[in-house]
Amino acid sequence: MEMDVHDELLAAVLFIVFTMFTLWVFRKLWAVRKRKTINDTSSKSGHYWSPIEQNEQQHNYCSGCKQHVVSGYECDNCLLKVDNINCLRAISTKIHCKVNQTLCRKETFDHHWICGNIGADLFCEVCEELCGGGVGLQDFRCSWCWRVVHTKCKPKFTLSCDFGRLQRTIIPPYCVTTRKPGNRNQRMMLIKSPFQAVIDKIEIPTDIEKWRPIMVIVNPKSGSGAGKQLLRNFRAHLHPAQVVDVLKSNISASLRWIDEHPEVDVRILIAGGDGTICSALDQIDTLSRRIPVAVLPLGTGNDLSRWLKWGKKCGGDIDVIKLMEDIQEAEVTLVDRWTIDAESQKKLGVRLQSNKTLSMTNYVSVGVDACVTLGMQNTRESIPRAMSSRLLNKFLFFTFGTKDVFERVCKGLNERIDLYLDDVHINLPDIEGLIFLNIPYWGAGVKPWATYNASHRQECDDETIEVFAVTSSFHIAQMQIGLASPLCIGQAKHAKLVFKGNHSFPMQSDGEAWVNSAGTVLISHKCKTAMLRKAEKQSTGCGMFF
Ligand SMILES: [Zn+2]
Ligand SMILES: [Zn+2]
Ligand SMILES: [Zn+2]
Ligand SMILES: [Zn+2]
Repeated sequence: MEMDVHDELLAAVLFIVFTMFTLWVFRKLWAVRKRKTINDTSSKSGHYWSPIEQNEQQHNYCSGCKQHVVSGYECDNCLLKVDNINCLRAISTKIHCKVNQTLCRKETFDHHWICGNIGADLFCEVCEELCGGGVGLQDFRCSWCWRVVHTKCKPKFTLSCDFGRLQRTIIPPYCVTTRKPGNRNQRMMLIKSPFQAVIDKIEIPTDIEKWRPIMVIVNPKSGSGAGKQLLRNFRAHLHPAQVVDVLKSNISASLRWIDEHPEVDVRILIAGGDGTICSALDQIDTLSRRIPVAVLPLGTGNDLSRWLKWGKKCGGDIDVIKLMEDIQEAEVTLVDRWTIDAESQKKLGVRLQSNKTLSMTNYVSVGVDACVTLGMQNTRESIPRAMSSRLLNKFLFFTFGTKDVFERVCKGLNERIDLYLDDVHINLPDIEGLIFLNIPYWGAGVKPWATYNASHRQECDDETIEVFAVTSSFHIAQMQIGLASPLCIGQAKHAKLVFKGNHSFPMQSDGEAWVNSAGTVLISHKCKTAMLRKAEKQSTGCGMFF
């Protein structure tokens, strides 16, 4: 009898779980469909609407009916807010988005004023008193230069729009024509879908001194929601065609104009984790000139941005204006990039695994540290929601770091591989992990080479790679809190790893892990990329936490 009760309970629980899952899927599909429909109906106005909820720090009011917004929509580009679909349709016919000014001539280019919903700590350009805040839809903010004025002061404000502190960085809407990516014949004077338009033609604005636009590449999936917020933050401050969403647009199509307009000086910012940065750099390397790149850290790792002084982790609400000024003032530094060729062994004329070629900026490693990442990556793939929780990530990292099962395969690594540095065979001590390092930082803030003697200095543009080893995952943990140093193996212009016998070993490069079956791995210099290092005197532009 008891068994039956259990079975019934189990059936009931399964039914409830299944129903909730189905409802959840339908809700998601419905939200996607709804968003698509509203952005189709309002496409002529240029707005790109995203759903919003009530904001606890600031009360928002609908631009249509002036009511308090509990939930509704906000335009990513001009931050216009509405509380329902009727107000959205009505307002779209009355107020155009900031990107929809392509027909404006620069002689008559005016501020793009949006009424209300202004932060409470801003000062009026005319009377210099506090502006914004308060109850109801009042006061104005320009969605290009971000200046604010009181409703009563607005008629007295006669200065035309010069894009304010973002003047050097913004691509003025009167200087650019955009088109749909892919089809070149389908030119559009009015941007129909700003979120996927790419730059077609650009003219250098004659009225702006030292003009140097910044293209921004963002992965909205990086950094547990911070990426999404950051993407909207950039769209609100820049011309939306300057902002590339890696999930919705093709990076090389979005950057193609750079090769077609060699007269335009340009800089690039990549916001994302190590993987996003690596694949975006691969696209940037194919451009015919060297464009300096800054990186903004989202996700885990972030040793590259640590070294280049952009911080170790940043949120989505950073001060975009300050960040853009920092990028304009940053120094250019050359960084080597490397090619990893993993060649699988042939057995009876058949390859055990397909060959793998990838580029590397930070490091490539074999053994115990890759074990930790690989264990985490496999678990992540089985529970995709784990990706969105930073805490769970930390927990997984910690758990897998101490698990014997992942470590056992790395025991006696030195006996199962042959290492050649510049064609010289190296005798390895008893180790469990071998790391080839390009930049000074590794493993979330460790500086492995700093402890080594001065005659073997680490430079990042000398086409030389630093090789060090670790004896266990415990050794890595000790290094992270400064209690141990790595075993320095040597430096090389090129390196070769030969896997002996039939052993497979976990490997990783810039946070991406894989299992390498027997064969050889070649590490050779690929190119030099221009990166931007934040100037020392400035304070940190990133909200740092953790
Ligand atoms: Zn808009
Ligand atoms: Zn309304
Ligand atoms: Zn303005
Ligand atoms: Zn005023």
